Amino acid sequence: MISLGIESTAHTFGIGIVGPKGKICLNLRETYKPPKGSGIIPAEAKAHHEAVASKLLAKAKNSFDFSKLNLISYSKGPGLPPCLKVGLTAARNLAKELKLPLLGVNHCVAHIEIGKLATGTKDPVVLYVSGGNTQVLALAGGRYRVFGETLDIPIGNAMDVLARRMGYGFPGGPVTARLAEKADKFIEMPYSVKGTDLSYSGLLTHASRLIGKESNENISHSFRETGFAMLTEVVERALAHTGKKEVLLTGGVAANVRLQEMMAKMTKARKAKSYVVPESVSGDNGAMIAWTGVLMAQAGVCEATHDISPRQRTDEVKVVW
Ligand code: AMP
Ligand code: MG
Repeated sequence: MISLGIESTAHTFGIGIVGPKGKICLNLRETYKPPKGSGIIPAEAKAHHEAVASKLLAKAKNSFDFSKLNLISYSKGPGLPPCLKVGLTAARNLAKELKLPLLGVNHCVAHIEIGKLATGTKDPVVLYVSGGNTQVLALAGGRYRVFGETLDIPIGNAMDVLARRMGYGFPGGPVTARLAEKADKFIEMPYSVKGTDLSYSGLLTHASRLIGKESNENISHSFRETGFAMLTEVVERALAHTGKKEVLLTGGVAANVRLQEMMAKMTKARKAKSYVVPESVSGDNGAMIAWTGVLMAQAGVCEATHDISPRQRTDEVKVVW
């Protein structure tokens, strides 16, 4: 079973090809960059994806023999509808042209599955932290259940907005990470964990109001320590509830060394282990969609109709593989 997967939920358009045991044969992608001072403009991201789709497909055809493919997978959601539609159209056309079955894959489930593949974890508590998502997930009763999540904005987005308000471009996560390294003071900030859920809007507002009054370095450091401590608390609670012994960090924010440090320290104290999805597959990419398609198809999943599901939640998907 060799699958070609198409990712297009938000800023990235990607095409990946993955074989039966998870061999990644190809993983091409291009990312839309919003104009300075702005977040993703859906119509612009859509135009970007349309412009790069045929180029990346041609590149993929040149580097891989498409007659070896058995399946086309596409990211059906959650995501921005105009962007998702570009991926669906490309996948539909390709499936028709090659006379192959088509499978719609949940984007968040795909992040988890490629993470498990890349790290060798079996049954982790997953911390999925990206520009569009902040969720703590774990397999229970045949689904990836959401143990906790942000009640408002995702942490990656909060850092992007904070950096933008400081006058930096996208993505803001790496910028605030660099600034935080040069801090000399911790400023108390709103710490908002509600049960197993988190809220970042108060923290963002508080930090934003300090711009110009405190140094960007100290704001970034204090934001980071507070925001990441919240994540660590919720992940620890999920470990305690589920009895699981592995933590898997994924999504763009997983690249943050300080977050990795905090998670490693907490898991060590609980005699658990923390794993980080390598950057090559932690951001949005086509290989994760292709690989999840392989898992689904091998377990007998097939679909008669194909559409996008912009608001599909992780726990709507039955994990039958
Ligand atoms: P994704 O949505 O998974 O592609 O991830 C993008 C998000 O990851 C953006 O919000 C970035 O600001 C964030 N990000 C990327 N690198 C880092 C980093 N080193 N530290 C914190 N956030 C990061
Ligand atoms: Mg993502």
